[in-house]
Amino acid sequence: METISKIILKPGKDEAIKRFHPWVFSGAIKNKVGSPTDGGLVEVFSHQDEYLGTGLFQDASIAVRIMAFAPERPQVLDAEYWYSKLFKAWKLRVQLGLTSNESTNVYRLIHGEGDQLPGLIIDHYNGNLVIQAHAIGIHQNIHLIAEGLKSIYGSHLKSIYYKSTETLPGNYARNEDTEGFLFGENATDVVFEYGHKFEIDFVKGQKTGFFIDQRENRQLLARYSKGKKVLNTFCYSGGFSVYALQAGAAYVESLDSSKRAIELTEKNVELNFPGCKNHEVIVADAVQYIRESDVIRDVIILDPPAFAKHTNVRHNAVQGYKRLNAEAIRRIAPGGILFTFSCSQVVNMSLFKSTIMAAAIEAGRQAKILHQMSQPADHPVNAFHPEGEYLKGLVLYIE
Ligand code: SAH
Repeated sequence: METISKIILKPGKDEAIKRFHPWVFSGAIKNKVGSPTDGGLVEVFSHQDEYLGTGLFQDASIAVRIMAFAPERPQVLDAEYWYSKLFKAWKLRVQLGLTSNESTNVYRLIHGEGDQLPGLIIDHYNGNLVIQAHAIGIHQNIHLIAEGLKSIYGSHLKSIYYKSTETLPGNYARNEDTEGFLFGENATDVVFEYGHKFEIDFVKGQKTGFFIDQRENRQLLARYSKGKKVLNTFCYSGGFSVYALQAGAAYVESLDSSKRAIELTEKNVELNFPGCKNHEVIVADAVQYIRESDVIRDVIILDPPAFAKHTNVRHNAVQGYKRLNAEAIRRIAPGGILFTFSCSQVVNMSLFKSTIMAAAIEAGRQAKILHQMSQPADHPVNAFHPEGEYLKGLVLYIE
């Protein structure tokens, strides 16, 4: 058997791994023994030659993603290894009541580090699975992963779609097979989320096709929507709009800068409420639209894409959130509600709160925090990897 390359860490850099943090940054490496290849298996040691864990190597800022911590020491990541890890994650979803649920058949099966599978995302849509690899090592094991999924889902499985062109490094993905069906060929399906219907296009949709992480927050919006005028900005496929209409909103406007997103929203509204008369769509830039609009709404939803992907642009992101929220707060009726989100990993809840408070001051309005929102339990945060906590939101009462 081929010998496994060794990664030796600088003094002090073993602490994080001993606390089960699953990343080794390139700057923590003292030297390499052997010649680790992109995607290949490596063993990580302290500078005193103490074995710490086994992971997948990549010549990048995150150099190793740890798949097994000492004393576990797998010599290969074989079919059985992948199956047992996928099965563990599936068992958690069983416990969460998501695997045979009459009203919801959409959930996240694998949430990367949160499921001890760094670099891997798998979403489940009514028997269809969509996989995203964020690491080369995951890509190289994709067929073993697909086999594991087939064993778990058996005859319930309709399709497995692999969708990693945008998530793998560009220069690597260019020469690899990063997109296509690994099983079946179901490209779209109608799914249920708390009884609401959504048509999902796995192949052409954003991310894996749907923003599953907003499930519980959409439910919360329903409680505030009856008889209200609702503006849902950054609506994508209309998740929040459908819940608001179902809850008896007087009027719902759905806004997105993408025409394709608006088409999806229209389709989903029609699917749930054929001939619906109190829904309108707008293709526009959200900030510009809200700034130029003089219409006052009872409820506004702001769910923008991540404004900051790295800490070095965090300041600009904070300014962006402040501007957007200040404009929205100005357009909310006294006693109205703002649902505001950030999915930037580098903006934590405390920074997000102070940014939103600054926006309320700029708008000259009193604000009360009614709820603090986050990602649902099928997007678990590994307690040793706080970076996994990415979605945060506030429900504000605006006086
Ligand atoms: N709220 C959605 C998910 C939002 S994803 C849901 O529940 O499913 C972010 C969306 O913002 C995308 O659909 C994207 O097209 C849109 N977007 C990005 N920049 C925008 C802008 N400047 N103005 C309006 N929409 C924008």
